[in-house]
Amino acid sequence: MEVNVDRLPCGFLILDRDGRIMHLNQALADMLQMQAGEWQGMHIHDLLTRTSRIYYQTYFAPMVFVQKEVQELYLTLEKDGRGRVPVLANARMEGDRVHCTLLKMTVREEYERDILQAKHHAEEILEDTDEAYKQLQQVMTEYEQKRRELTALNENLHELSITDALTGLKNRRFLEEKIKQLLYSAENDEVPFSLILLDIDHFKKVNDHFGHAKGDEVLKALAQIFQRSSRGEDVAARMGGEEFMLLLPSTTGKEAALVAERICRDVEQHAWELTPITVSAGVTAYHVGDTAAGILSRVDDALYESKEAGRNRVSYSVL
Ligand code: GH3
Ligand code: MG
Ligand code: MG
Repeated sequence: MEVNVDRLPCGFLILDRDGRIMHLNQALADMLQMQAGEWQGMHIHDLLTRTSRIYYQTYFAPMVFVQKEVQELYLTLEKDGRGRVPVLANARMEGDRVHCTLLKMTVREEYERDILQAKHHAEEILEDTDEAYKQLQQVMTEYEQKRRELTALNENLHELSITDALTGLKNRRFLEEKIKQLLYSAENDEVPFSLILLDIDHFKKVNDHFGHAKGDEVLKALAQIFQRSSRGEDVAARMGGEEFMLLLPSTTGKEAALVAERICRDVEQHAWELTPITVSAGVTAYHVGDTAAGILSRVDDALYESKEAGRNRVSYSVL
């Protein structure tokens, strides 16, 4: 059967032993965009890239002369710097000629290009992900910082909401809450507790004679005396105006009365700059079945009793 090599569906090349081109089919000429017959007088080197030339020289030629054939060798054709064409080369010695078929590998090249693009894309995504992760971490850090600030702020606000601004003692709100807790543990665990209500004697006169600001100084100094007298879980609070309360957990009425006596003496003996100051006190202790309102009213009665009896003294209210 007569075969027209020009019409083969692959490049076909005949070389002499020195690599000179003896024939080059039309399919290969088309692949390299060569004019008919342009190949005349050319060497195989003229159609290869630099790398493929080295490959041809060191592997292809020695192999075909020794083994008489070369199979599936990957080469890249290039003609005068025009578009590179990757081909799969098969060659066989026919007498002193080398017959080569060159199968274009565009598909493989495209495949490789796709893989390369996919790789780049993956790298970009990875970079983006990395960047996004860093940003996320930064946002998380900022969030954590803000959360801590907010917690601190809330703690601060809470502290402010239970503190008396002038004296720094606890305020009435805190004290009432604390009384509820103590009532609960008194009812359930039979833990006693006592209250001391303190009121400055004739405080109005201090304001009237020395001014409100000086009166405030007295309130602050008294707060310090009351604070010093409270220990452990005791709570010293300003109920409002010139009225203070000491809440004494795990303390009997008798013990509380002694504390109140000592406070009255401490106040009396304090080195007051402007004028002598005294306080009156009412004391009471928890009784079974007490309510917050009941116990507060009782301690108020005890204080009233001290005022009525001449001030600067302690009265104790039992049920
Ligand atoms: P008593 O011995 O009966 O308690 O007489 P008192 O004058 O202390 O009692 P009264 O209830 O008549 O007056 C209380 C005074 O306390 C009146 C008010 O001006 C003063 N006061 C209340 N709160 C404050 C305050 O925050 N600062 C100052 N400087 N004075 C206050
Ligand atoms: Mg009063
Ligand atoms: Mg008073």
